[in-house]
Amino acid sequence: MNRQIYLDYNATVPLLEKVKKSLIDSFDYGPLNASSVHYHGRKGKNLLENAKLNIAKLINTNSENIIFTGSATEAINLLLSNFNTIVVSSIEHLAVLSSSKSKLIVPVDKNGVVDLNYMETLLKNVSKNEKEILLSVMWVNNETGVIQPIREVVNIAKKFGCLVHCDAAQALGKIEINLNELDIDFLTLSGHKIGAPTGIGALINNNKFNLTPQILGGGQEKGMRAGTENIFGIRGFGEAALIMSEMPIINDKKVKCLRDYLINKIKKVRPETIFFGQKSNTVSNTILMALPDIPGDLALMKLDLASFSVSSGSACSSGKINKSHVVSAMGYDNLAFNSIRLSFPPNDTILESEGLITTEELDTLAECWFDL
Ligand code: PLP
Repeated sequence: MNRQIYLDYNATVPLLEKVKKSLIDSFDYGPLNASSVHYHGRKGKNLLENAKLNIAKLINTNSENIIFTGSATEAINLLLSNFNTIVVSSIEHLAVLSSSKSKLIVPVDKNGVVDLNYMETLLKNVSKNEKEILLSVMWVNNETGVIQPIREVVNIAKKFGCLVHCDAAQALGKIEINLNELDIDFLTLSGHKIGAPTGIGALINNNKFNLTPQILGGGQEKGMRAGTENIFGIRGFGEAALIMSEMPIINDKKVKCLRDYLINKIKKVRPETIFFGQKSNTVSNTILMALPDIPGDLALMKLDLASFSVSSGSACSSGKINKSHVVSAMGYDNLAFNSIRLSFPPNDTILESEGLITTEELDTLAECWFDL
């Protein structure tokens, strides 16, 4: 086997070919400052508005509710900076957990699902004293792939008059998001998780809540995020959203087959492997697993040398392996340094455009896991 196989799609999805073509096309458009009022500016503005329409269509919201940011992390920070009373699940992304505001934490169970009873009691008590509460629960966890019961979360939150933020960075392109059906107040998205370039994210202010911006200046994005718009990132996000909205609703059969094939192989060769979250409702592309006596950094290095680019459950930006707060929160503190995440393409369309992964290649991966 001589190619390095990328199995880290939850970290980032490579630029889709069609998105790349649309970007090359817009590089030839000339100057594109979407805030200028002249002909060229209007061309830029047009690209921006089209991208918003494509994203709005994908998640079924009004394009006017979309605020472009530099990343999902920035969108989350912008949102959280507006609230003083914030309730979050224990498995949120660090973009939520690290924001400077203090938070009340809702635990998850052993299967990585948010504890709805705990959440209800907490919100009931907090809402006695606080008028404005933001509840932040992610749709799909980036490490386990577990889909949270968002409909129930929203129903409980609304009983106590709380506003709801859902981090949908890992849900987009994997499962259906329909904001017309769910009373979610804020949604955050990341372009590069669906094959757009990095450096573009969005905050969806679904109920037009009055927010205060963090970045001040020229008043772009209706004053919510100043700075000349990243028009190429925006174009790419819009094109990737268009591709996702043209896919069939169920579009993960091939991805699921690959994942299940690999899980079964690994169970055969190393039955002591622990798979996190697999008893829950999960997206089809993610496997989080660990061996009791093998540190994650060692497993990651050996898999890398054997031509597989995977991730530890918790690599931080310096590449150093940290303890996984998700694995810990699920009650496996003893395995929090051992977890390895394999993530296949988010859906069959991206799997096909990337080149299929063969079962022979997965056999080689399983052999490598056996040899650890
Ligand atoms: N939320 C989740 C669940 C993620 O997986 C990520 C990225 O890994 C983010 C937020 C942050 O996204 P971005 O890279 O756009 O800042």
